[in-house]
Amino acid sequence: MARIGFIGLGNMGGGMAANLAKKGHDVRAFDLSADALDKAKTAGCLPVASAAEAADGAEAIVTMLPAGKHVAEVYDALFGVAPASAILIDCSTIDVATAKQVAEAAQAKGLVAVDAPVSGGIGAANAGTLTFMVGGSAEAFGRAQPILADMGKAVIHAGANGAGQAAKICNNMILGATMIATCEAFALAEKLGLDAQAFYDIASVSSGQSWSMTTYAPLPGIGPDTPADHDYQGGFAAALMLKDLRLAMAAAKDVGADTPMGAKAAERYEAFAEAGQGSLDFSAIIRTLQD
Ligand code: NAD
Repeated sequence: MARIGFIGLGNMGGGMAANLAKKGHDVRAFDLSADALDKAKTAGCLPVASAAEAADGAEAIVTMLPAGKHVAEVYDALFGVAPASAILIDCSTIDVATAKQVAEAAQAKGLVAVDAPVSGGIGAANAGTLTFMVGGSAEAFGRAQPILADMGKAVIHAGANGAGQAAKICNNMILGATMIATCEAFALAEKLGLDAQAFYDIASVSSGQSWSMTTYAPLPGIGPDTPADHDYQGGFAAALMLKDLRLAMAAAKDVGADTPMGAKAAERYEAFAEAGQGSLDFSAIIRTLQD
């Protein structure tokens, strides 16, 4: 079992740190929020007063923070304190450029770092069933893998530093676009007088099948239990989908990639969030397509 510093105990990090403690790791947990620290204590972690204290003597330091600027800030605080033998594992969803920069900065300080963003929401973080996509050297992946496996169901090596973030935003760009396409199809089907259940039964075993259709159907009473069955509460907030689509658009611009469907999805989610709907599950975008 390892001594692990865990920084960022929010919706996702809280459950992830709890799972590491449950697996028997010695988890030194830090967050700016006193409430988050209390919850971590109840979950078996040792709350500490700073990121540096969490890093002190750690074999691994896991971060789960809102955005790239928070990760860069926290990494600055770790440098000089984290033991040279420690591995830095950033599970936050951040821009590819910052992911590469912080890994390079870590390397310059003699530390090994990986980006390891997740697929799966708060439920998967609590249940320990996240999927991790990891960017870093093969050696770094080998070191991070057993720790990530204690928080997830799949840990996949995506490539060099930054490749984990690239995989994450490419995946979520598909998700944003297919969700809107699925919502459009349900709305059109309804206007054509097609029964929603009949359409689901057909499309979910036909070429219109996708995760958005089969596993996350955006209408209540159709398919498995989804946020649509709970008035679009819980699930994956539209604001977070917008965040990921913006990261994808920024990355596409950086490398000159043409992503028209992703751009359209970003535009639709931006309008949805600006209309005050950002806290609803992202499948609620169907409401903008219904009468
Ligand atoms: P959150 O806002 O609930 O948690 C972030 C935590 O970081 C907060 O508790 C905050 O106090 C803490 N924090 C911020 N700056 C800090 C600092 N300098 N030092 C210590 N703590 C600090 O966010 P979340 O939903 O847990 O998401 C975390 C990351 O995971 C994000 O990058 C998000 O995009 C990604 N993600 C979220 C989901 C989801 O469903 N919520 C799914 C996949 C990925």
